[in-house]
Amino acid sequence: MAQRKVLLYPREEARLRKKSTRVKKLDATTKALIKDMKDTLAIQPGAGLSAVQIGVFQRISLCCFGQNRGEMQPPVVLINPEITERGPLVSGFDGCLSIPGLVTWDTLRPEWLVVRALDEHWQPVEMRVEGIDARVVDHEFDHLEGRLFLDLMGPDMHLFHSETDEDGEERLVEIRGPGQHR
Ligand SMILES: [Zn+2]
Repeated sequence: MAQRKVLLYPREEARLRKKSTRVKKLDATTKALIKDMKDTLAIQPGAGLSAVQIGVFQRISLCCFGQNRGEMQPPVVLINPEITERGPLVSGFDGCLSIPGLVTWDTLRPEWLVVRALDEHWQPVEMRVEGIDARVVDHEFDHLEGRLFLDLMGPDMHLFHSETDEDGEERLVEIRGPGQHR
């Protein structure tokens, strides 16, 4: 088990903004990286993780599907993913392990998409995913391009910070309302 440190916004924003390069072959180093990514995601409350988030600028993402059905599946490994078809944009939830505490329900992402990639055995895969699963793939693909969900926040969107009050109750505090673009 090798859990790696997740890069955090804003302190490590410059690294999170780096565009990742294509993986050329599935060698021992790549396999070890995928293992570390799985170990890291396993202890995090997230549905996805990209290599850039642990400081490795290679186009590898892990996506956990099944949130729609209330049962998160083990991560699917996507190497060099390409989104080949996108459905209409719809607003929905976004949060990021690299941006802890901040969440929104307003970012626009495709209702469904088709992603083509290599799997962890270097076999081509193509899948059509929808709903939250599509949002996870789109969010992780953005990481490979150096984009963060905050980039999708428009002036009319609401961003919340999850805070714990003195009674230990978690509550959401709106940190930027309509018209308060950062
Ligand atoms: Zn993220």
